[in-house]
Amino acid sequence: MSALDSANHQLAEAVKQLGLDDGLHQLLATPRRSMQVAVPLRRDDGTMTVLAGYRVQHNLSRGPAKGGIRFHPHTDLDEVRALAMWMTWKCALIGIPYGGAKGGVAVDPRLLSRNELERVTRRYASEIMPIIGPEKDIPAPDVGTDEQTMAWMMDTYSAHQGYTVTGVVTGKPVSVGGSLGRGGATSRGVMYATFSALRAAAVDHRGATVAVQGFGKVGGLAAQYLHDAGCNVVAVSDVKGGVYNPRGLNPAALIRHLRSGAESVVGYPGTDEISNDELIELDVDVLVPAALEGVISDENADRIQARFVVEGANGPTTPDADAVLEDRGIVVVPDILANAGGVAVSYFEWVQDLQAYFWSEDEVNDRLKVLMERAYDEVSELADQRGVSLRTAAQMIGVGRVAEAHRLRGLYP
Ligand code: NAD
Repeated sequence: MSALDSANHQLAEAVKQLGLDDGLHQLLATPRRSMQVAVPLRRDDGTMTVLAGYRVQHNLSRGPAKGGIRFHPHTDLDEVRALAMWMTWKCALIGIPYGGAKGGVAVDPRLLSRNELERVTRRYASEIMPIIGPEKDIPAPDVGTDEQTMAWMMDTYSAHQGYTVTGVVTGKPVSVGGSLGRGGATSRGVMYATFSALRAAAVDHRGATVAVQGFGKVGGLAAQYLHDAGCNVVAVSDVKGGVYNPRGLNPAALIRHLRSGAESVVGYPGTDEISNDELIELDVDVLVPAALEGVISDENADRIQARFVVEGANGPTTPDADAVLEDRGIVVVPDILANAGGVAVSYFEWVQDLQAYFWSEDEVNDRLKVLMERAYDEVSELADQRGVSLRTAAQMIGVGRVAEAHRLRGLYP
C-alpha cells in the first residue's frame, strides 16, 4: 500500500465518522495545487543531469501552506501528495493557522558534493518560487534536508526579492532568523507524546525500554531526550542497519560518533548489530519509527511486540497494520499528533520572524509542551468518547476543523 493509499484510507475513515458529504470528501482529498519542476544540475565534473522536483499545496483553507522538503531518491508526486495531506490535518489538529504542503526532489543527497547540493537547493527553490512565500507557503526541513538547506532556500528567495525575507522558510539556523528550540522540537514533541501515552496507561516512563528506527534529525534527538528523561533506549538504527544493547545505549555518544564522521550507528563499540526488520519486532515498551513510510505493514504487524508505537515518522504504519495493532491492544500514537512538535515550533519561528522579535529557548519549549499535551488530551478524550483509535480521533479533529473552515468560507464562485 502506498503512502497516498494510506492517507486516502485514513481520510475516508474520518469522513465517515464525521458524516461529511461526498462533495466535501472529494474537496478534502484533492490537492489544491501540485507543481512539478525540472531541476537541472551541473555536476562538479561539468556534466549535467536533470532531477524531478515537486511542491504540493494540499489545502489552504486555514492559512498559508506549510510543510517540509524531502531530498530522497524515491520521492515522487504521489508520496509528496500524501505527506502534504497529512500536514493539513496535523496543522489543524494542533490548532496552528496553516494549510498543508510538502515538497521534494528525487535525489540521494549523500551522493552529491556540498556544492552540488547547494546548486540543487537553489535551483529547486527558484523553480517553486512562484508559489512560496511567507504569506503563501513556508517550507521546512524533512528527510535528507537540514538547516543549511533552509539557509540556502531563504537566501535564494531573498536575493530574488531584493531584501531579506526570513519568514519564507522555517528550520533555519538561529543566526539567520531560526528559532531556539526548533532543532530538537519534533523529537521533544515525540517525547511528550510518549509520556502522555504511558501516563494514560499508568506506565512509568523511567526504565521503560525504547527502540528507535531512523537515527536522523527526529529519531536521534528523540532517543537522546527519552534516555535523558530516564527511559532505557536499547536499540537505534539508520539506513545501514541498527545497534542493540539490552542494558541501554548512550544516544548522545552515538550522535557525537556520527558528527565526528562515522557513516552509520552500525559497528558502534559495545553494541550488537541488528537489522531494521529485527528492531521493529523487538520486545520493548515503546517503538518509535522515525525513518520512512510503510515500515509497519500487514507483513510484520502480527509480530510487533511493543506496547506503544509512537510515530516519529510520517505514515510508518499502513491501515492494514493499524487494524492488526488495534486488535492486539497495541497503542499507536499517530504521526499527525506524535511528530507535530516540529511544525509547532516552525510556527513559533515564523511568528518570531514576522515580528522580528525572538523568544528564549525556555519560552519555546514551554509553549511546545502545553500545545502537545493539549492536543494529546483532546485526541484521547475523543477516542474514548467515540470508541475509536487515537489515529481516527486525531484525523477526525484535523479533518473536522478543515471541513469547518470550508463551510464558513463558502465556495467561490
Ligand atoms: P533524516 O533524513 O534526518 O533522518 C532519517 C533517518 O532514517 C536517517 O537516520 C536514515 O539513515 C534513516 N533511514 C532512511 N531510510 C531508512 C530505511 N529504509 N530504514 C531505516 N532507516 C532509514 O530525516 P528526519 O527529518 O529525521 O525525518 C524522519 C521522519 O520524520 C520522516 O518521516 C519525516 O517526514 C518525519 N518528520 C520530520 C520532521 C522534522 O522536523 N524533520 C517533522 C515531522 C516529521
